[in-house]
Amino acid sequence: MKRKKKGIYQTRKLSWKRIAILVIAFAALAAAVVILVVTFSPEAKKVLTGLGKISTARLHDEDTQYSYYDENGTALLTPYEDNGLGTGTMAEVIVPYAECTDGSESSNLSNPLCSSLTRGTVDRVASVLGDADNPIYVLESGVKVNDEYLKITENAYLLPENTLTVSTCEESNNGVKFTLDTLWAVPVQMITEPQEYYTGYLERIYNVAEYTAEYLDIRFAHTASLEGTLDFSASDVIRSYEWLETESGGTLRLYFKQTGTFYGSSYSLDGNGRFSFVIKQNITQDDAPVVMLDPGHGGSDPGAASLTDTYESEVTLNIAEKVAENLAERGVRVVMTRRDEVDVSIDERLAMNRKYAPALFVSIHCDSSDNTELFGTHTFYYKNFSQPLAQSIHENMAAVYQGLYAADEAKAAESDREIKFYPFAVTRVEDCPSVLVECGYLSNEEDCDFLMSEAGRLQIAAAIADGIAQQLNIA
Ligand SMILES: [Zn+2]
Repeated sequence: MKRKKKGIYQTRKLSWKRIAILVIAFAALAAAVVILVVTFSPEAKKVLTGLGKISTARLHDEDTQYSYYDENGTALLTPYEDNGLGTGTMAEVIVPYAECTDGSESSNLSNPLCSSLTRGTVDRVASVLGDADNPIYVLESGVKVNDEYLKITENAYLLPENTLTVSTCEESNNGVKFTLDTLWAVPVQMITEPQEYYTGYLERIYNVAEYTAEYLDIRFAHTASLEGTLDFSASDVIRSYEWLETESGGTLRLYFKQTGTFYGSSYSLDGNGRFSFVIKQNITQDDAPVVMLDPGHGGSDPGAASLTDTYESEVTLNIAEKVAENLAERGVRVVMTRRDEVDVSIDERLAMNRKYAPALFVSIHCDSSDNTELFGTHTFYYKNFSQPLAQSIHENMAAVYQGLYAADEAKAAESDREIKFYPFAVTRVEDCPSVLVECGYLSNEEDCDFLMSEAGRLQIAAAIADGIAQQLNIA
């Protein structure tokens, strides 16, 4: 629309009446524009009433690296004050979650049998691997941690054997929460067992055929005892517990009410010298579940190119919006890591997951390969407790692709690329079941046609939503 310059730059005396007319006219025009945009824009976000709701995750605090003890040191013993036990080289975790690998293995590949250490954790350095530019520290508790997550202090003060004391234990709508007082921030590891693994895709050894864990072990290094009693009598997820003493510390073993009823856990350390643990239960429709959807890529990262001029980031966002609408209509609250073409870093996506503590986290991507013959769909998981979510989404997705290639039996079978263990950053979530869905190959002609069609995207979105709904026991 062209603007008439005349009038805009003319100065006039405005009467109150004229101002009022102008204000009303402007408000009416603005309202009309809003209505037009909402009604006619194909990109308009569907406004939903009722139970379900779709929103965008927002992060407010910048997670910068800092020492926990700068602000919180007083209630805990620290390696920065003399504990009467001499000195050694000590490591302190200075990021919110420091990923670890097994210190007894030579491999530095992500290991789902290790869990992250929370900010403030301290341990003595046992040995240093890697080169001077990228040292990797093996800690006395048995894990390896990258230099970037740690503050290393030589001649720091050694710490005594630890004691834990039960402080609180209560039910919340997403699981059990309990707090333990601790003398110092000992390293904690959480692992669900028993679980058999097999070697699969890319020779990775942590593939799960069936999730079978019966208990969660919370291992506290350098810890001799647990004082007090935890009351899990009201819990839907924990049946009982025991405290086990081992050479390297103590283990709190939490037995599940049913095999495979564990949906992730998180822990943190507060300024009062207290560990807080949340053990998640299966969230059902009654608990007003929150699902986090993560459309892959976005903004300056368009993802994979397709055979058309549309990129992966646009396709994943459109499919994710359709999944969100489908779930919201079933009463699920959906939080999305993005709803526009904006940059969202991997760290931000993970921080959003921790902040919103969803029941499930699903990252949506499309595949691409130099080999244009490759086609079909696969879903990835990392933790054993994420495998059931991967399976239920994948079964629905595979059915969609089998329908697409129904005319050719061999192709229909091949389009099911199965579920696989793989350590993508967004699947290495420990707080809840988390999977990454590859919705098809943008580099393959038939897959790409399907992914570019409205009907195809609706079918894919319905399959993902159905898989999520099955995990939430929603019809
Ligand atoms: Zn991708």
